[in-house]
Amino acid sequence: MSASIGKNDLIVVAGAGGFIAGALTRYFHDKGFQKIRAVDKKPLPQWYQIVPGVERLCLDLGQEENCRRVCEDAAEVYNLAADMGGMGFIEHNRVECLRSILINTHLLESAYRAGVRRYFFSSSACAYNTELQKDPNVKALKESDAYPAMAERGYGWEKLMSEMFCQEYWAERGLETHIARFHNVYGPFGTWDGGREKAPAAICRKVIAAKDSGSGEIEVWGDGAQTRSFMYIDDCTRGIDMITQSEKLIATPINLGSSELVSINELTDVACEIGGVKLKRRHVLDAPKGVAGRNSDNTMIKSVLAWEPSTPLREGLAKTYRWIETQYRDRKAGKRTVS
Ligand code: NAD
Repeated sequence: MSASIGKNDLIVVAGAGGFIAGALTRYFHDKGFQKIRAVDKKPLPQWYQIVPGVERLCLDLGQEENCRRVCEDAAEVYNLAADMGGMGFIEHNRVECLRSILINTHLLESAYRAGVRRYFFSSSACAYNTELQKDPNVKALKESDAYPAMAERGYGWEKLMSEMFCQEYWAERGLETHIARFHNVYGPFGTWDGGREKAPAAICRKVIAAKDSGSGEIEVWGDGAQTRSFMYIDDCTRGIDMITQSEKLIATPINLGSSELVSINELTDVACEIGGVKLKRRHVLDAPKGVAGRNSDNTMIKSVLAWEPSTPLREGLAKTYRWIETQYRDRKAGKRTVS
């Protein structure tokens, strides 16, 4: 295990124009880190968050020379860059999802060559065997359930393969890597419209739009019986930090998710309650809905870190709903918004 880094060591955050890496950049900044290099291929004006005092680079990390450039002098590298979105996106853009393997492949090699101390990779619950997720009353997925492998087509296989890259760079080359399998993350400053948004944000937006139009109804993808767990963004950033600093978690994929299982119908109930409205459900049965059920088994994280993501859905969703409501209003008023 490498020595911990100091507040003047350089941290690189890839994908920082997006949701989770934007929040992670703010987290490190608030913790007092002085040198943070934030990178995304998105043009700077489209980044979701702007954190003061942070170096911001607009570069495509699918290109090896750009990865070399961003890893220069880095002590730690966090890879959260990927072409991704909710079920609607990943079911229809498998090639784009698979091509994210270029980002991790080049970034990992560049980190190794630059002699970085630690490398973090954001994997996903989509790496798990889909055969185990056919029942909404799913048994929570534990880390060993990824093998024998039958990951989600496209996106899930990219994650599984990139995890393996991280594991072998440690085994053969001694680069200290850390891997978290995120289970649905939500919160303010996340994508909430445009086709890449995930269920919590999409449902909040639909409730807000239904109230605004007075339509009295809401569209829900699938029959709504599909189950998931949802992790609030503050738990995610804290978990990434703890996992990356744990000597027991080198090259060892670990779940980072909430274990509070809800159906999409229940998620809709909570959003309607927060919005103070009753809406008729219109279920779109042929819409993308992913696996029938998925939950995070947190036995390992509790035993290794004596911690697990614990923000109740009701609390995190209320904050998210209020933020999306402001975004919705701003957009109507012609102001710039995250989307
Ligand atoms: P996001 O789409 O908000 O952020 C990803 C960012 O990566 C985007 O800003 C995008 O522009 C950038 N990016 C894509 N290709 C790039 C490239 N070639 N070079 C540089 N930047 C590039 O997504 P997010 O929700 O913040 O997800 C972050 C990471 O967490 C991803 O690896 C994702 O697969 C993983 N993850 C997220 C969730 C979730 O619920 N949000 C769940 C599981 C895993």
